[in-house]
Order: sequence, then C-alpha cells, then structure tokens
Amino acid sequence: DMLAISLPYEQLFTNALNLMDLAGMPVRASERDESYPLVIAGGHACYNPEPMAPFVDVFVIGEGEEAILRLIATMRAARHLDRETQLRHIAGIEGCYVPRFYDVAYHEDGTIARITPTVPEAPPRVLKTIVPVMPPPVTDFIVPFIETVHNRAPIEIMRGCTRGCRFCHAGMITRPVRERPVDEILDAMEIILEKTGYEEVALLSLSSSDYTHVLELTERINERFGHLGLNISLPSLRIETVSTRLMDNLGDSKRGGFTLAPEAATERMRNIINKYVTHEELLETAREIYRRDWRTIKLYFMIGHPHETLEDVQAIVDLCKAVLAEGRKIHGRKASLNVGVSTFIPKPHTPFQWEPMDTLDQIEAKLALLRREMRETGLRLRWNDPQESLFEGYLSRGDRRVAAAVERAWRNGAVFDAWMDRFNREAWETAFAAEGLDRAFYTHRKRRIDEVFPWEHIDVAVTRRFLTQDYLMSHEGETRIDCRDQCFACGILPRLKDLRR
Ligand code: SF4
Repeated sequence: DMLAISLPYEQLFTNALNLMDLAGMPVRASERDESYPLVIAGGHACYNPEPMAPFVDVFVIGEGEEAILRLIATMRAARHLDRETQLRHIAGIEGCYVPRFYDVAYHEDGTIARITPTVPEAPPRVLKTIVPVMPPPVTDFIVPFIETVHNRAPIEIMRGCTRGCRFCHAGMITRPVRERPVDEILDAMEIILEKTGYEEVALLSLSSSDYTHVLELTERINERFGHLGLNISLPSLRIETVSTRLMDNLGDSKRGGFTLAPEAATERMRNIINKYVTHEELLETAREIYRRDWRTIKLYFMIGHPHETLEDVQAIVDLCKAVLAEGRKIHGRKASLNVGVSTFIPKPHTPFQWEPMDTLDQIEAKLALLRREMRETGLRLRWNDPQESLFEGYLSRGDRRVAAAVERAWRNGAVFDAWMDRFNREAWETAFAAEGLDRAFYTHRKRRIDEVFPWEHIDVAVTRRFLTQDYLMSHEGETRIDCRDQCFACGILPRLKDLRR
C-alpha cells in the first residue's frame, strides 16, 4: 500500500523515478490514484523537497521512526477513501508535507513571491518531526553473503550536533542533540555481534568526541570486547589531543584510520565557516597521533567556501606539508598523509543558503593548484569530481520548476547519478536547457537577504532570524562557540519543547 523511499542526497532523484517506473507506476503523483501505492519520501535531501514535489505524494520532514507509524495508522483508517481525501488526512500529521496542496507564485525575475497552502488541512509551514528519545538501536540486520561497502554493524550513539559549522546541513537540520545511554550501546553491541558475526562496529554520530560519555564508552568497550580483536570505528573526531586517548581506550581493538576534518587551513577561513581550531592544535593532535603509532592520517578539506581565495587554498598545501613533516619526525619516510578535498555546496537551512557556489572555472583553478603543489612522497590527494558537485548544487537549492528537468534528465537516460561511471552530465545539461532553466540561477547567484526560498514552508525549527544573523556574522569573520556552552537561541528548544519528554 505504501512505497517509502529514502532520499539522503540529491543524486538519487532519478533513481526514485526509475524505481516507480520499474514498478509499473506513473512517476507523476497527479497520475496515480488510490489504486497505486502511496509514495512517501524522507531523508536529508527532502528538507528541500521541491525538485521532487510533483513525483512524491508525501514527504516526511524530519525523523521517520514515529512518523511512519502515524502514517500507517492514518492510511489504515483511510484506505477506502480516494487519494485526494487520504492525502488531506495525511497533510494534518506532524512532519508530513503533501506538495500538491501548496501553490507557488513567482516574481518576474524568477524568484519566489509566495508559497501558499490550498486546503485547510495543510499548514502554512510544515514543522519537522523528531523522536524525543532515540529509539532502540537496530540489532537485527540482514547479513549479506557478498562483500558490501559498509560491511559492519552500525550503532548510532548520538543524533544532532552543537558545533554550528556554517556549511553543515546535517548540523542544522538534525538539532537538537540526543544521546544514547552507554549501557544501551554496549548491550546492542553484544546482541549484534552474536547475531551477525560482524567483526567491525561503527559507532555513528555527527561528532563522536561530543558524545558526553565518549571516554566511558571507549573504556567499557575495551573491557567488555577488547579480547575479540574487533575493529571499532569512531568517526568524526574533534581535532584535539583527547581524541587520541579515545582511540587508545579501544586498546587491543584493531585500529582503523585516524581521520580529522579541519575543512579549511587559514584562521580567516575557519572563522568564516565557524570551525574553530588553531593551527597549533591541529599540529599537536597530528603529532600525538603519529606518536601513538599511526603512520597514516587522513585530513579532509573543502574548497569553495564563501570568500575563499587562492591563498586560502595554498594554505591547505602548506598545512598538509607541515602535518606530514610531523609524521616524518617520528616514522621517517613511512609516515603518510591522505588528503580528501570536496567542493562546498551551499545547502538549504544553513547560514550559507544565501551564498553562491563556485563556478567550474574557480573550482578547477583551485584543484589545479592543489594537484600541482601536493606532489610529494607520502602525500596522497583525492578530490571530488567538480562536475558532480556542481550537479548537486543545481538540485540542492532548486525550486519546483527544477522537477521538470529531473524528469527530463531521467527520460534522457540519467540514473544512478551518484555513481561516477554512470553520471550522465549531458542528459542533465540537455534537460535543464530544454526546460528553459538557467543552472547559474540556482547555483552561482548570491541570493537576496530577504529572498523567499523554495524551502521557506519547510520548518526545521532553526529560525530564519538565527540563520541570517549567522550569515552576516560570517561576513565579519565572527564565530559562535559550541552551543552546549552558550545558547544562541537558534529556535530549536522552544519550537520542539512539547516533543521533548
Ligand atoms: S562538527 Fe561541524 S561539520 Fe561536524 S556535524 Fe557538527 S556542525 Fe557539522
């Protein structure tokens, strides 16, 4: 009766159409009556649902664990009704956005004038839904009998992040922070290991070092499971020496890689993006890591941040060389550094939602500099294909008109856009051109401070006032500290207070 699709990123849009088509369903929601399954979509790419609006019956904005139960109950009660009436019932459910019940009006310059609900059941703004307490961890997995990419048991230890990096979509949309008790994590590990035979466990969160009980957790994992020689990954560690202690705590567990994400290399840039770590802190952490017998460190950077210059990019090279030099002091030529570089894509609901994305020429000039300057034994540079990043940029802040390009690109053969070998750039470029849509309008344009965004009616509970303030602060290079230490009234607590038990 229901077809629920996860859309964690925009490159899956054409796959969603493909999936419906293969199931023998029309891809446009307006052509599906109640004899077809109800098509639901959720996930991070749905926080701007508009480029998929004509294809999906209901978007779940926020977390799905409880929303799906409410949806099922409503559909059970409404199964004898026609699709329009079913959807009217659903439009009143918390976190459910039914796009057909909203009208979008445009200004002459192509920007949005207003988005208005057309039925009384549809709220003017759809507030995201969250689970007040993290639901029990999943312990029953389908264990694949072929080697898969994520061949390990994931346990989510925390949801949300308080750091407030201005480029970070996940950090803004998954607020507030909720943590899982240590005992629940350990018990889940026990059950999973017994049921699945996995030898690797990933403790997932957006920022592991910020999990309040992270020291206790790592100590107790070592006590209880240390003898099993498991591979425990604790991704997204903060750049500070205490992170090395966490890895030490995991003791005899096999060590995965040590990854740090400074994201930018100059203090000016880090202030703009609000990722505050000093050069010295980074070098000191790297020294500690190399000293504890890791020979390889991975560093992640982003290029294309707002107001970035080639000097800021050169600083990435200098910093990487300085980190590697620390490794060399300890391990000689055996020390190595892997550097991953991705391109910044401005995302909805972040303080950078107003910012233009770099053009292809800008990105290529920056990548050329990095490739030229990073030629050194022990330094390994990897980067994202700029065309793919640009493509994500066209879609991530697109409006409802972009849906026509999504459909046309799919009809032109675009599918599996996230797979580099399958990404069909031509199909997309032709589709945008044929629909009379200017990609630069969606991607490279600085948006007016008061512009109505295509996602204006989607309420993530972080206020526009807070985001605007933060955006303006970035122009001045002003930072905000972790909001666990000081509340900046982003809006999340009062808006969702009734949900938090
Ligand atoms: S630390 Fe920054 S980049 Fe990482 S999840 Fe939090 S806000 Fe995002």
